[in-house]
Amino acid sequence: MNLTEHIMTRNDCYKAGRTIQPKGIMVHSPGVAQPDVSVFLRLWNKPDVDRCVHAFVHQDGVTMTLPWNWRGWHAGTPPEGGISANNTHIGFEILEPAGHTYRNGSEMVGYNVEKNAPYFAKVYHNAVELCALLCRKYHLNPLTDIVDHREGHQRRIASNHADVSHWFPKHGKSMDTLRADVKALLDGKEEGEDMTQAQFNTMFAAAMAEYNKQLAARPASPWAAQVWKKAAAAGVLDGTQPQAPLSREQAALVLDRLHLLPDGAPDGEDLTALEPGDPELAVSPQDGTQDSPAE
Ligand SMILES: [Zn+2]
Repeated sequence: MNLTEHIMTRNDCYKAGRTIQPKGIMVHSPGVAQPDVSVFLRLWNKPDVDRCVHAFVHQDGVTMTLPWNWRGWHAGTPPEGGISANNTHIGFEILEPAGHTYRNGSEMVGYNVEKNAPYFAKVYHNAVELCALLCRKYHLNPLTDIVDHREGHQRRIASNHADVSHWFPKHGKSMDTLRADVKALLDGKEEGEDMTQAQFNTMFAAAMAEYNKQLAARPASPWAAQVWKKAAAAGVLDGTQPQAPLSREQAALVLDRLHLLPDGAPDGEDLTALEPGDPELAVSPQDGTQDSPAE
């Protein structure tokens, strides 16, 4: 993740200078089709703006706009009695792509899911990485301490907004997938550091052997059963392991048994010296489970 810093020192929220002990993360999107972070920096980094977040997540990375432990202005006023997540949560905006408008508050109009898929994949990935970074830094639980604005309202810690769950599902994602992906990233880092190439190679070899064993045991598919018997009866193939892969040398052998190759070979080698029945001609794919003759 490409993290840059552009602290919005002219924003009144920054000037207020209040700090928090971060207890969670609140995910937002601005509700406007504007992917250019410089536009937000220009519009928000000045006096008399009533909002401020800790970061903007965009296609090219993350721009940090408040120190993480500054009190932000992103969660608004919650339903009566609630304490705003501004006092507890780090808040960031995931910038939306260009091209759509809004109707009835949170309904996206003219949003091209297919065209925006690559954009979404990038900002989603950057958001996951930012959350993982903050979880590590402040010892947060990715499964319980990350919410979006909408969930914040449900928990009575934010104003009534729909972001980001009005947008994520268009791309098959949700706050649940985001939390799971952050957790996987955090877990993966710890486990990944311990695994050596040699350990992976051993696991890979075991997995391949098991796969080949299963493949070798599979019968011919219904659509191929008839022709498989025919090939075995004609001596073109040996009738075992119908679903195992065919090597190039085995393919050559099959072609030769069908008499599709001209007789004679380069360097005067005589192919006719080998007759069907010779062990060299058995077309029986290796399944990785047989003992090799050398052992
Ligand atoms: Zn929001």
